[in-house]
Amino acid sequence: MAKMYYEKDCDITKIYGRKIAVIGYGSQGHAHALNLKDSGCDVCVGLREGSKNWKAAEDAGLTVKTVAEAAKWGDIIMILINDEVQAKVYKSEIAPNLEAGNALMFAHGFNIHFKQIVPPADVDVIMIAPKGPGHTVRSQYVNGKGVPMLICVEQNATGKAYDIGLAYAAGIGGARAGVMETTFQAETVTDLFGEQTVLCGGIVQLMKLAFETLVEAGYAPENAYFETIHEMKLIVDLINKGGIAMMNYSISDTAEYGEYVSGPRILPEKETKERMKAVLQDIQDGTFAGKWIAENNNGRTYFNRSRAILAQHPMETVGAELRKNMLWGDDVDPDTASN
Ligand code: NAD
Ligand code: MG
Repeated sequence: MAKMYYEKDCDITKIYGRKIAVIGYGSQGHAHALNLKDSGCDVCVGLREGSKNWKAAEDAGLTVKTVAEAAKWGDIIMILINDEVQAKVYKSEIAPNLEAGNALMFAHGFNIHFKQIVPPADVDVIMIAPKGPGHTVRSQYVNGKGVPMLICVEQNATGKAYDIGLAYAAGIGGARAGVMETTFQAETVTDLFGEQTVLCGGIVQLMKLAFETLVEAGYAPENAYFETIHEMKLIVDLINKGGIAMMNYSISDTAEYGEYVSGPRILPEKETKERMKAVLQDIQDGTFAGKWIAENNNGRTYFNRSRAILAQHPMETVGAELRKNMLWGDDVDPDTASN
């Protein structure tokens, strides 16, 4: 069983008197900086000169510095910029400003686990990874609640890395919901595996093929959109609330019977698992990371082309038309989308 920490296990005073630099003011950055400030911590935000977020952060009452200045000022440096630019920014602006005894923090393990960032041995390397989008990290905190988080320590140079990490988790509200201990390796691998096989890769491919199958059989694309895409949210909300049992309770017995007979037909257990294991293998041995890093270094040709092709797909164009007349999803801010 994983070790869990709650508010009683976290002493926020361990980061009082420490200077916390939050680098980046996107989804996670704004939530961490504001929650820490409201928790009484000494925090500043590090941004690029000319960043459009500079004024937003200042308007929210935060002190803003350049990334290099913030890294120099901070004893605890939380890196919350896009994963694919972290290594470059780390090398040029953060590493030269690190001091022995500083804590370098992350919200995802990619760059440490795949050695894109190799910190000096005399700093703590800690991850606090919220299991929810930044806007939820903020809204839950404001409502007196919190989003569950993971804590991982890669380097414990000072011997105080857990104290700092848990205090930080308390400062952004995570300890109210629970902080689970894991490792950079496990967080990175499971996060990538989940998004590739189910959350993003699997679901999108499933929706797309089902949509195409209906349309190719002569059914209206609007009809196909409703049945294979639109209703996904209702199903996921039920599972999120009460597990698969609640979803099955809510749907008809006909739908549940279809689930049992046709699910394994379209995703045969043995073959699907073999493919999933191959995806897991690529993630574990660094093949996926190597390809993604190369893609970023080569102008993202494949990535951009894939995005453009998907945007032209009828499930997207038909869906956009239908959604204009639906209130569904009005409460969803695309900026809050999970990674
Ligand atoms: P984001 O895209 O919302 O924000 C990134 C921020 O970094 C933006 O403000 C951007 O302007 C800034 N930035 C980009 N390049 C920069 C540069 N060269 N110098 C300075 N600033 C720069 O990113 P996010 O979703 O908040 O992700 C941040 C980290 O949190 C990532 O490690 C991500 O994996 C992790 N994370 C995200 C989520 C999520 O739901 N979004 C959840 C858990 C963990
Ligand atoms: Mg994730």
